[in-house]
Amino acid sequence: MGAISKWSFLELFHIGIGPSSSHTVGPMKAAKDFMEKHLQQAKIKKLSFITVELFGSLALTGKGHGTDKAILLGLSMEDPETINPNAIETILEHIKTSKKIELPSCGISFNGEIQFNFNRQLKHHPNGVKFTSYSTDSRGAKKILLEQVYFSVGGGTILTEEEIKKLNGRKGPPEGIKIPPYPFLTGDELLRMCRETKKKISEVMMENELFYHSREEVTTAIEKRYRVMQECINRGMNQEGQLPGPLKVKKRAKDLKRRLVDALQNQRGENLRTLDWVNLFAISVNEENASGSKVVTAPTNGASGIIPATLRYYMEFCDGQPGDEETFILTATAIGLLYKMNASISGAEVGCQGEVGVASSMAAGALCELLGGTPLQVENAAEIAMEHHLGLTCDPIAGLVQIPCIERNAMGAVKAINAARMSLMGDGEHVVSLDKVIKTMKKTGDDMLNSYKETSKGGLAIHVNVTEC
Ligand code: SF4
Repeated sequence: MGAISKWSFLELFHIGIGPSSSHTVGPMKAAKDFMEKHLQQAKIKKLSFITVELFGSLALTGKGHGTDKAILLGLSMEDPETINPNAIETILEHIKTSKKIELPSCGISFNGEIQFNFNRQLKHHPNGVKFTSYSTDSRGAKKILLEQVYFSVGGGTILTEEEIKKLNGRKGPPEGIKIPPYPFLTGDELLRMCRETKKKISEVMMENELFYHSREEVTTAIEKRYRVMQECINRGMNQEGQLPGPLKVKKRAKDLKRRLVDALQNQRGENLRTLDWVNLFAISVNEENASGSKVVTAPTNGASGIIPATLRYYMEFCDGQPGDEETFILTATAIGLLYKMNASISGAEVGCQGEVGVASSMAAGALCELLGGTPLQVENAAEIAMEHHLGLTCDPIAGLVQIPCIERNAMGAVKAINAARMSLMGDGEHVVSLDKVIKTMKKTGDDMLNSYKETSKGGLAIHVNVTEC
């Protein structure tokens, strides 16, 4: 979307629930924000009922991505980071049967209807949602209390219509924000800052973080995200059954793990067994994401398996040490911010190259630094990973974040590892810069037909029949 509010990992790594950051986490935050506006303006007691309209990609793949459910949870003032995933079904069932949303101070009528505008897209962004609230007087006359349009611009970030108008087309930070010691806008600027200060990319990022937060806050927030990533892998590896939805996709992480442990015990296998583990780590996270569990957007939910899988690979197979996760996340952040500022991390805007491609690029650069890469090699690794995701479309079958998304994360993690290794074999000198590949990704996304941008109107989504029952 072309702008960030901080040079911080908090711009990219959010804790939320699956299956989608733009279609689940973002709309839930928007709904909660809308309710908070009523509280701030002392309008909550007058609120009688609410209508919700979805536009563009939010309407087209909203059912499969659980957008309607996320909105009901957000209107109930639930937060994606703190919600208990086990309580979700109870809350939704209560709204369905009582036709009411319960709030601490009152209950609001809600007939559960969310309007899906399949043929309308709002100006500014394909992921639009409009909330309108009404009061009703003693004679039954209704009056609009508040109206607000939000856009879910990728990775769980939301902008109001007023905010997006100010940002559209802007590359740098919005006016008035605090500028940290290293306010790089491009990969070239980042490399120059590293060269002049003889710092690694993670060190540059840490100085930026310390401009906004205390050391303790940085450590605590990164540890929290790292813990959620690990829990997600571990939980995913022990789940069986089917993923939700009409595809009836079988969860395979547990079986995959059993086979790998078995092969390990029997000393069977060839040199590439490590890749199977990387696949397992990514599949575990993305099966959890598809099941609506708690995940870290990295930088999105759809692509949430790549960074945890690559980081776990490093920790388990490359002799990772405690604290290395911080370096990994900071370097990954620097790369991710370049995409967020200069292109997009939204599948609805630029296709899957903006989700899986960006996550793979972030992971490649971060792994490269931990394996001893110079800033130039890190930039090269990030570039290689994106170069070979260019043109990747977003065509989720039945609008679910399952096929091709789950396996695609495994592929993205493997590509990240290979990109880091290829870069480390060279001296960092290369023809296509990261800046150029980011520009190309953005232009490719602009040229891509809408049917390939999270609308489920093209690609696998229309060539695979799904039988609803
Ligand atoms: S195809 Fe890619 S961008 Fe689209 S929903 Fe799946 S992971 Fe997200």
